[in-house]
Amino acid sequence: MADVEIKAPSNFIKTIIEEDLATGKHGGRVATRFPPEPNGYLHIGHAKSICLNFGLARTYNGTCNLRFDDTNPTKEDVEYVDAIKEDVRWLGFQWHEEEHYASDYFEQLYNLAVRLIKDGKAYVDSLNADEIRDFRGTLTEPGKASPFRNRSVEENLDLFQRMRDGEFDDGQHVLRAKIDMAHPNILLRDPTLYRIRKASHHRTGDRWCIYPMYDFTHCISDAIECITHSICTLEFENNRALYDWVLDQLGLPCRPRQYEFARLNLSYTVLSKRKLIQLVSEGLMDGWDDPRMPTICGLRRRGYTPESIRNFCERIGVAKANSVVDIALLEHTIREDLNRGAARMMAVLRPLKVVIENFPEGKVEELEAVNNPEDPAAGTRMVPFSRTLYIEQEDFREDPPKKYFRLAPGREVRLRYAFFITCTGVVKDPATGEIVELRCTYDPATRGGDAPDGRKVKATLHWVSAEHAVPAQVRLYDRLFVKPDPDATVEGKSFKDFLNPNSIEILDGCKLEPALAQAVPGTVYQFERLGYFCADAKECGEGCLVFNRTVTLKDSWARIEQAGQPAKV
Ligand code: ATP
Ligand code: MG
Repeated sequence: MADVEIKAPSNFIKTIIEEDLATGKHGGRVATRFPPEPNGYLHIGHAKSICLNFGLARTYNGTCNLRFDDTNPTKEDVEYVDAIKEDVRWLGFQWHEEEHYASDYFEQLYNLAVRLIKDGKAYVDSLNADEIRDFRGTLTEPGKASPFRNRSVEENLDLFQRMRDGEFDDGQHVLRAKIDMAHPNILLRDPTLYRIRKASHHRTGDRWCIYPMYDFTHCISDAIECITHSICTLEFENNRALYDWVLDQLGLPCRPRQYEFARLNLSYTVLSKRKLIQLVSEGLMDGWDDPRMPTICGLRRRGYTPESIRNFCERIGVAKANSVVDIALLEHTIREDLNRGAARMMAVLRPLKVVIENFPEGKVEELEAVNNPEDPAAGTRMVPFSRTLYIEQEDFREDPPKKYFRLAPGREVRLRYAFFITCTGVVKDPATGEIVELRCTYDPATRGGDAPDGRKVKATLHWVSAEHAVPAQVRLYDRLFVKPDPDATVEGKSFKDFLNPNSIEILDGCKLEPALAQAVPGTVYQFERLGYFCADAKECGEGCLVFNRTVTLKDSWARIEQAGQPAKV
């Protein structure tokens, strides 16, 4: 397979960092962070952010923190914390120091909120959520001040303390920044900084019943950790003014800056934890690590390597405008990686029995097979050949159409690494008429796959020896959705209506060459002519083999590229 050369696009954040380094901003330091909320598993979109943040730290000799943005106790869980740490490490990155948690800053955040109150920059509001929304105004109309906006500092301090002490119910009061109810950026119309939420937190337990909001927590957490470049996705562009407002009021020693980049969107996929959670909790997928999921753990189980995901993230680049990346590029990237490294094996997914009539009963010939034509160092292995074999059902046609060059009655083909065989007869089930066995002869002079008299055959088939074959289950995966944009709003439909009903096909009774009995779980092999398949560690113990198809051999991306199409759809 020819490698398609795809140039890494430019990264505007690098340009910003290089300017900052040149002018000595942030004292020549580069400190980034990856700030997941532990409310779900990481997906390939997060991988883009991880590669960007950790990659910048690596490039500029800086540091990258892992910080859990855990301010919403009702949706978060340690299960997610552990999975996120595992996934970041698996992708090949190590965070600076211990991981951080926004919840570690709750006391500091509280004290800073008290400072804002004392400075007359925050107040306790007792409107309910609906009223707050109504008072906020619209894009065309300014908001109205809450009747509680001018409470005295003393009253605000007292109420905020009592909010913390648990005297009030959820929603009874909130703490708001006092900015400008007529501000053209609605986010600056006195945003909520704290709310009451009487819920146990996975780390702080019942110590708190008020929790800080994202916009208050995030910038302060960045400042506490002395982050220099706080990189987030474009949806937060309007939040930047609030990020700056909070930090400007507090004048903390470190002053981070926020930069936004375009999130990854991938065709035939959804990349939103909220949606992925539905697929899992409604039983539409077989867990977060279902090999069809675009999660990091799903891709890992599917057979994706960390290198391939990092290469993918490098190729898609970092831009300021939203776009959709063709999933074929992701598939191309793993194919390229596996083509270099995966051992070739023979496996028959839908077996058809073949009896070689002139091959003696009980005799076994060991034939040498190449492990990886792309990698001479991978060497060779021996594959047993015997009187009864399996080939793929679709490699035989009793009545072959034009241009079908594989096996048919009276026709000769090559068995890979073995011999030429000729089909001499067909055995059918008398009841159903189904073909159950082929009778063939072989030419011993063609051992290794070439005829000494120079005669040619038009097809080479893969095969396994029946008595040596190991039985396996193979799962064929296809795209998760039938539509490139399952996310797009369609009247009366949800994204779940576009799930591909054929995204998984389970084949039992597959026959693998004996070397695969030693398959290492998590390892990907190329099954010749069929695709790449990953030995599944999860559902099967010793002696029972399950393989997940990582990707087929057909590279639609290479075709798109060669036709000179743009890299994005
Ligand atoms: P989702 O939209 O899937 O719920 P999120 O943004 O709520 O994701 P977080 O846990 O807050 O999830 O994300 C952690 C970091 O990953 C954030 O900085 C966020 O900007 C980034 N991120 C999330 N999704 C993507 C994506 N599709 N492409 C690039 N970065 C992303
Ligand atoms: Mg988020």
